[in-house]
Amino acid sequence: MAGEIPYKIYLDEKDIPASWYNMRADMKNKPAPLLNPGTGQPMTAAELSGVFCDELVKQELNETDAYIAIPQDIRDFYKMYRPSPLVRAYCLEKKLDTPAKIYYKFEGNNTSGSHKLNSAIAQAYYAKKQGLKGVTTETGAGQWGTALSMACAYFDLDCKVFMVKVSYEQKPFRREVMRTYGASVTPSPSETTEVGRKILAAHPGTTGSLGCAISEAVEVATHNEGYRYVLGSVLNQVLLHQSVIGLEAKAALDKYGVKPDMIIGCAGGGSNLGGLIAPFMGEKLRGEADYRIIAVEPASCPSFTRGKYAYDFCDTGMICPLAKMYTLGSDFIPAPNHAGGLRFHGMSTTLSQLYHDGFMEARTVKQTDVFEAAEYFARIEGILPAPESSHAICAAIDEAKKCKETGEEKTILFGLTGTGYFDLVAYEKYNNGEMDDYIPTDAELAESIAKLPRI
Ligand SMILES: *Cc1c(COP(=O)(O)O)cnc(C)c1O
Repeated sequence: MAGEIPYKIYLDEKDIPASWYNMRADMKNKPAPLLNPGTGQPMTAAELSGVFCDELVKQELNETDAYIAIPQDIRDFYKMYRPSPLVRAYCLEKKLDTPAKIYYKFEGNNTSGSHKLNSAIAQAYYAKKQGLKGVTTETGAGQWGTALSMACAYFDLDCKVFMVKVSYEQKPFRREVMRTYGASVTPSPSETTEVGRKILAAHPGTTGSLGCAISEAVEVATHNEGYRYVLGSVLNQVLLHQSVIGLEAKAALDKYGVKPDMIIGCAGGGSNLGGLIAPFMGEKLRGEADYRIIAVEPASCPSFTRGKYAYDFCDTGMICPLAKMYTLGSDFIPAPNHAGGLRFHGMSTTLSQLYHDGFMEARTVKQTDVFEAAEYFARIEGILPAPESSHAICAAIDEAKKCKETGEEKTILFGLTGTGYFDLVAYEKYNNGEMDDYIPTDAELAESIAKLPRI
């Protein structure tokens, strides 16, 4: 039987989806709306358009159109690196001696090294179309900033990136890639913004967080004519753009009549997972098929599994709209020795609602287990995975081992979101045996959760 399905299932260029798929159209319980922190009322399109590009605001608020056409300019850019390969992990299956059939969708085949380019190019396109001068953003590990700087270079837009300080220091090469593509990069929190100065005064010596960097980027966008803020995860529009991952994966599996039993993805803000599962979740929501869907998050930043489903700020400076999501509190800053990415305190509102309604599961993994899985995978399948992606690898390997015990021939699909070439400081720590597994205590989480805004 092996051999019938190739190691890599490639699609043709013409199979790049013509439309993105919007899961919200098929959800009975829609994700809760973003609220204006001043009034407590849902954010209107007019209010949002002060921060975000007009067309992206429309996508953010669109709960009715299941399919939204991908503009030709974006499809043309996608053609340079898509369709991305869907790989049958024959070598991993053999090494694990499992009856499970394992597939992964690899999004690391572009210079930015991750799936984030799928949304970056869309967001840059709409900014250009609106006649803007440029965009501002935050970046954590650096993948989003890299992807956005590539997209801005392509459309000739200015790009200002606030990079979480710990990553700025640990990943000088990421910073240089961004500068090479023409972006300016500022470590966050910085003295260049009002909110940055406030955070530095309250937390001297902080290594930063995505929440801080978001606050700074939003401040700069709203204080500069011709600029808007763009975000690389969490938002509905980003999940929409990332649906290209799931649509391609499903088309590739359909070519061979394969139906996954479970779909596994790492969860930071939820964009790759939301994108990978999109068409499968659509079938599940419409009652056409069933799949087990598993979100994997770090034990050190466990939004789904130990957070609270409540309205919260997306940023530390509390200037962004409130989102109803699984959150650890916008004040929560993961331990600085947490090296595996996925540092955001909250989660996509769409995935939060789906999780709340029982359409998906979530689990945590410890960072040393993540790196053990990463190296195991690298040595067998050849790809050096990003630490974030390795959360999904770790869970997929666990599930494949369970299949070995039970003899079940489950089909597992997981998202391999990126490469780990810029994460070698983390790999070095792991190889030196210097990596530990800091897990926040209940008391620590309770402290930041107690500060959630009262709505
Ligand atoms: C950003 C990133 C993630 C996590 O972000 P999501 O929005 O949760 O997808 C995962 N893997 C890689 C490689 C990333 O760059």
